[in-house]
Amino acid sequence: MSSLEMKTATESESLNPYVIVQQQIDTAAEKLGLPIHITEILKKPKRVLHVSFPVKMDDGSIRVFEGFRSQHTDAIGPTKGGIRFHPDVTMDEVKALSMWMTFKCGVVGLPYGGGKGGVICDPRTLSKGELERLSRGFMEAIADIVGPEKDIPAPDVYTTPQIMGWMMDTFSRIKRHNAPGVITGKPLIIGGSKGRNEATAQGCVYTILSALEDLKKPTEKATVAIQGFGNAGRIAAEKLSRLGFKIVAVSDSRGGIYDPEGLDIERVGKLKDSSTILDYGAQYAISNQDILSLDVDVLIPAALENVITAANAHDIKAKIVAEAANGPTTPEADKILFRNGIIVIPDILANAGGVTVSYFEWVQNLMNFYWTEEEVLTRLESTMNTSYRAVRDLANEHGSDLRTAAYMISLKRVAEAMEARGWV
Ligand code: NAD
Repeated sequence: MSSLEMKTATESESLNPYVIVQQQIDTAAEKLGLPIHITEILKKPKRVLHVSFPVKMDDGSIRVFEGFRSQHTDAIGPTKGGIRFHPDVTMDEVKALSMWMTFKCGVVGLPYGGGKGGVICDPRTLSKGELERLSRGFMEAIADIVGPEKDIPAPDVYTTPQIMGWMMDTFSRIKRHNAPGVITGKPLIIGGSKGRNEATAQGCVYTILSALEDLKKPTEKATVAIQGFGNAGRIAAEKLSRLGFKIVAVSDSRGGIYDPEGLDIERVGKLKDSSTILDYGAQYAISNQDILSLDVDVLIPAALENVITAANAHDIKAKIVAEAANGPTTPEADKILFRNGIIVIPDILANAGGVTVSYFEWVQNLMNFYWTEEEVLTRLESTMNTSYRAVRDLANEHGSDLRTAAYMISLKRVAEAMEARGWV
């Protein structure tokens, strides 16, 4: 592809995730032959709350932060989805993420619709006290519309179990009773689930193992590149490495490291905790762009949206792209990857392990009865493998990519629920 063609391709495609999710809905709805009024309802969230709230900073000044909570549809059950703290959060991004959550819950068969929240902030510049006041302030601002039977948040980019604990505590104080079921991803001692912290990565690993099996490719020494070294990316690296995969490259927001002989993931983890992964050695440096086009068996985007676009999709050499991140591939890029025979395990399937164990956590909170880690992981494995097979079989039947098939399964479920409630 010439650079001129690349430029045209980039300019012609929208990178607005809200536009992208609507395109994805249209593609699957058309294949399903869904009535237009159902599609029109699902192309917008049912409710979006835009809040601003003051936070007292350590130096005594007051800063006003803005945040959003989007609830896509409650046709199947209460809404569910993470809260993101990031400087680039926008209302459209949160709306799109809430819609992806609906389809994610649908593809793994959870009794939820999609929700998502976000606060425009850079948590890396906040002290622990400021972060706590911000987290509690946001929960106070959205407390009227969340709750165990209404909308259940969870962690996402730059939010942690500790933040979930603060938010749960604030909500419980407002309601004047203990309400662990309002949020998932909590620390274990206050109602978190065993296995939740690693669930997204574990679920992603199960889908990668299934895809490699379909390709009849041995997992031993299969090569992997991972963009993003947080909850999803780092734990996936650790798990795959233990399974015998060769992790040749990883990156975080500051850049990446690459060694064709395989990185020592334990050492990378220690560096991430103590300084930066870049201290692995200057000779191993690789950019966040170049990591995507490495000739590997498995590429795992595990950071943010829109990293694989029409401008770089032709450069992707991986055999499998496992989307641990939400929305890393644009629809234009999807078409290119599909034409090039690359298997894309879509975000709504590849990273559904997180919400699946979040669901298990919520169930345990409602029952006040807690499961062993083995019980959680056995249920997770069964959910992921069953869902993967259903998506793959439907894709084969329709000659479509896995994403379209995954959307078809979800859209059908949501449409049936809307009909059963008499909405349409
Ligand atoms: P996290 O905050 O734990 O980690 C994010 C990682 O991405 C960090 O290593 C950060 O340095 C890196 N990063 C940030 N900006 C980057 C950039 N521009 N280039 C490269 N790396 C960058 O977040 P997470 O929970 O691991 O989430 C990562 C992705 O996975 C997000 O898209 C999120 O929506 C998705 N996801 C997470 C979960 C979950 O349970 N944590 C569940 C489903 C989906």
